[in-house]
Amino acid sequence: MNLAATLNADLHCHSVVSDGTLTPEALAARAKAAGVALWSLTDHDEIAGQQRALDAARALGLPYLTGTEISVSFAGRVVHIVGLGFDHQAPELIEGLRATRGGREARAREMAAGLAQVGIAGAFEGALRYVGNPELISRTHFARFLVDAGHCSDVPEVFRRFLTEGKPGFVPHRWAALKDAVGWITRAGGVAVIAHPGRYGFTPTEEYALITEFIAHGGRGIEVVTGSHTAAEFEQYADTALEFDLLASRGSDFHSPEESRVDLGALPPLAGRLTPVWAAVAERIHRG
Ligand code: AMP
Ligand code: MN
Ligand code: MN
Ligand code: MN
Repeated sequence: MNLAATLNADLHCHSVVSDGTLTPEALAARAKAAGVALWSLTDHDEIAGQQRALDAARALGLPYLTGTEISVSFAGRVVHIVGLGFDHQAPELIEGLRATRGGREARAREMAAGLAQVGIAGAFEGALRYVGNPELISRTHFARFLVDAGHCSDVPEVFRRFLTEGKPGFVPHRWAALKDAVGWITRAGGVAVIAHPGRYGFTPTEEYALITEFIAHGGRGIEVVTGSHTAAEFEQYADTALEFDLLASRGSDFHSPEESRVDLGALPPLAGRLTPVWAAVAERIHRG
């Protein structure tokens, strides 16, 4: 298998096991049809879909890396860490993710209470109707409910008006620690990657702190080409990857055919000057 930086790898997307709308099997078929040459399903804080994704990819002859996207609290903000190529039966990783998911239900009930105060009743039960995995009720499910109930015209509008800091449905949550998330992934044989660094709104000093702490804990990669970045950020984070000697990753962050701007496998390739994360975990690729 050719593992060049320009490979059409898509190592970030979500299924009904977290906040996507397609099954792992439907995503595998969609990735294959889109010409993806290496795929990973990276559900939020959950690896219960990994065996299904792996089996579906194998049946299609689609090379696969195990994946997840862990929510981490860092410097008062939420940072996402993608894990790739780990053993999805590793007990420490399974337990760490279970602990990270705990508290989502209580948070969701608080979010619904906040929404009730501004006249939106029944949001907890409403959001639950959109949930594929009861342990993974997320803001995305609230957003889909609010759109379908006619409170907003699309999901980004719900986030702007109701679900972000300072808005009535926003409830902060204590997620995993950076050190733990990186450790669970690494000790399970995988590689940890900072997801969509351009999305956090960090100052250069804060971003430097994130990257250096991440590396100190054993983190090795950074997303460069992602559906959350602009073309200018593809360049900026390519430079960041080189500056810190990090492995570069690429992924659409696809959630749903109706909501996602970027489809599986549709982004530009990584620049040839980067070392792609898949070259460093070549022995972890399931080749079907
Ligand atoms: P949660 O893990 O419950 O805090 O939900 C976070 C999820 O909400 C992310 O993984 C995205 O899928 C989605 N999300 C976050 N911000 C936005 C936004 N501004 N517009 C649309 N979706 C968003
Ligand atoms: Mn999501
Ligand atoms: Mn994310
Ligand atoms: Mn994601």
